[in-house]
Amino acid sequence: MMDDALKPTADAAWVLEAVGYDPLREGSLESRFAISNGFLGIRGARAITRGARWVVPPHTYVAGLFDTLGTTPAIPELVPAADWLKVSISLSGRPLVHHPEDASSHRMILDLKRGALIDECCLLKAPGVCIRLRTLRLVSLSERALGLQLVQLEIEDGEIELTFEASFEGVNLGLVPERFDQGLGVWRTERSGRRLAMATASSLKVDGRDLAASAIDKLKCSWSWKSRVGQIVCFERMVAVVRSDTAGLSPGRGARDKLEVAQRLGWRGVLAEHEAAWTTRWRCSDVEVGGDAAAQQALRFAIYHLNSAANPADERVSVGARALTGDSYHGHVFWDTEIFLLPFYILTWPEAARTLLMYRFYTLDAARAKSARMGWRGALYAWESADTGAETTPEQVIGPDRQIIEILCGKEEQHISADVAYAVWQYWQATEDEGFLRGAGAEILLETGRFWASRAQSDSDGYCHIRNVIGPDEYHEHVDDSAFTNVMARWNIRRAIDVAALLRKRWPECWANLSSRLGVDDTELGQWKNTADKMVTGIDPKTGLFEQFAGYFALEKINLADYAGRSVPMDVVLGRERTQRSQVIKQADVVALLGLLPDEFAADTGRANFHYYEPRCGHGSSLSRAMHGFVAARLGYSEMALRYFQQTAAIDLADTHVAIDGGVHIAALGGVWLTAVFGFAGLALRGDGVAVDPQLPTNWSSLGFGLQWRGRRVTIRIEQAKQCMKATLEEGEPMTLVVSGTSHKLSRQKALWVSLGRSDRSQAPQLLRASPALDHMAH
Ligand code: BGC
Ligand code: BGC
Repeated sequence: MMDDALKPTADAAWVLEAVGYDPLREGSLESRFAISNGFLGIRGARAITRGARWVVPPHTYVAGLFDTLGTTPAIPELVPAADWLKVSISLSGRPLVHHPEDASSHRMILDLKRGALIDECCLLKAPGVCIRLRTLRLVSLSERALGLQLVQLEIEDGEIELTFEASFEGVNLGLVPERFDQGLGVWRTERSGRRLAMATASSLKVDGRDLAASAIDKLKCSWSWKSRVGQIVCFERMVAVVRSDTAGLSPGRGARDKLEVAQRLGWRGVLAEHEAAWTTRWRCSDVEVGGDAAAQQALRFAIYHLNSAANPADERVSVGARALTGDSYHGHVFWDTEIFLLPFYILTWPEAARTLLMYRFYTLDAARAKSARMGWRGALYAWESADTGAETTPEQVIGPDRQIIEILCGKEEQHISADVAYAVWQYWQATEDEGFLRGAGAEILLETGRFWASRAQSDSDGYCHIRNVIGPDEYHEHVDDSAFTNVMARWNIRRAIDVAALLRKRWPECWANLSSRLGVDDTELGQWKNTADKMVTGIDPKTGLFEQFAGYFALEKINLADYAGRSVPMDVVLGRERTQRSQVIKQADVVALLGLLPDEFAADTGRANFHYYEPRCGHGSSLSRAMHGFVAARLGYSEMALRYFQQTAAIDLADTHVAIDGGVHIAALGGVWLTAVFGFAGLALRGDGVAVDPQLPTNWSSLGFGLQWRGRRVTIRIEQAKQCMKATLEEGEPMTLVVSGTSHKLSRQKALWVSLGRSDRSQAPQLLRASPALDHMAH
């Protein structure tokens, strides 16, 4: 019996459920209910009662399995692997029509706590056959090569010849089959020289007794028997998947070995280890919200996908814009990872954070090559990056109006280099991982700093300018002196100078080697300082406003409130050209700068900038509301922040906003966590400790979360009604915790209770408009 395994977690706050079947919504369901362990990702396609046509065929994604598929220029795309979950059932030799509508009831349950997808249905077939069917699937979080599928049939009615067939879906998905043996398939990519092996084994028991397979083919097995009422049939299948990036090295052996280990453990053992791994992840990363069940669910869902997206064991891959849950953006990695995901990993799963940053270290050569090709020094990272780190942004795409649009981001959206440096510095601040800084982080900081120093041009006006870029607001191209870009670049150069000084002082030998290898000397460091000091930022000293880029203030002002309720993004409403001539912003830009570098905004100018830019933003990207929510919460505008939080959560959870067939918006999910922890709790990393400055939305009665900081584990719980906060140091040396501006010592001896005065963050501004309806087509 598999009853225990097939029973979802009982607490409703830990599960996501979908009842019934709606062919039009199947694509979104598959993204939302995807399971992943950062190496394997499987969309939530139904295993048995599948329709014959899918929006996206049932896909298993393998991180790092990229190939270029005949486009010019050749753009690597993530190639899906064979679907190993296929099951079909026939009755008296006649195939049961496998269609969701054949099921009299249908329930899919994503068990967030256990990291598993459970599917239940009842199959009725005249005359007098009724089979209750339950399935579970998972990809192991403790051994990432492994997948497990369980199916249990309970014969409620009918005595009939039954055949159960388990196979691999034959649809060829762009991989070239190389070898098929009993229970083993090996494929290779057409062009990129990678191989993939999938080894599988399955068995079936009728009323507790093993049934011998009646037909065995290489990737297919079937069993036949006579059913009777009350019979219980249990099917189990395991798969082991291995990717090999080295030509000549077949991964078949490796897959077989992993499968053997799993078989020795048995499915119960595999399941138990997987669940234990999830328990650890939840212990480190859960966020508990009191008083707002929807917010609680949104956070659990976000954290579930965030924990599913990373693999701390593979330094050659990073998280794509849709993680491993769908085809949009082809598995490409954007700034989304460093800016929207890394904070979560740094504070709850530093090993995963380190690995993601190592991906940027291994792709540093490609970033140097891109910079050199464009005539600059140092490292300019690819705007979209795949396996090698070479630029993979497509040069043209079809726009919403079906016209071809030239994409300039691969050339002009250069802030990515500073974003990577930003994440490296955050990781270093939070972990003091010296090995990483010396071996990888410092080189990234120096090479990105060097890029900006060569990129900025000193002009006759005595200032340094960065011309012809795209900032986060991609509606405006070829802009000069983007405030986000220039201020982040200045910050990047300064951190590069800091890391040089730090290395020189603490690890002189390391500095001697690195500086001589990179050819960085004091003269160059002096030039960097000069460039940073002379960088134009676009700030207006009278108002404290940053001009988003040179000339922005003079553009046409559009009152976005007039377009409330629109169902398409503003660039479609106005047309590209008019949008470019207007102040309409695609997504948080100066507001994102305020989120990342609040100290660059003197006195109250953060608020002034927020008040100015927030009403000008059309939220044409799924990243936008997340950043606005986080910044609004930090400024103390809790109710507005809550609205943004809800709208961000709705992107992947509600079926009414954007299309999610192409995968979940992992950056927005990172933003949900950011808004709660960095926003409402007001978390900030400092050189000498951690600071919190809580201010919860009125309907949140409490907020609790954990974090790791420099080898310590801390839990924090904020109580709204009592206006107090409790901090506990679970592990590690005493540390400083700054609560609403006052320093406290936190040690393991006793928990710290602090009462929270009303902070002055809460003056809600008058001029904030209601946000327009969500864009149906935000990317
Ligand atoms: C995004 C860009 C991206 C381009 C091509 C656009 O929708 O906004 O960031 O580079 O697609 O993938
Ligand atoms: C956004 C980018 C983002 C990309 C991938 C685009 O629509 O404008 O900022 O990196 O999507 O999520």
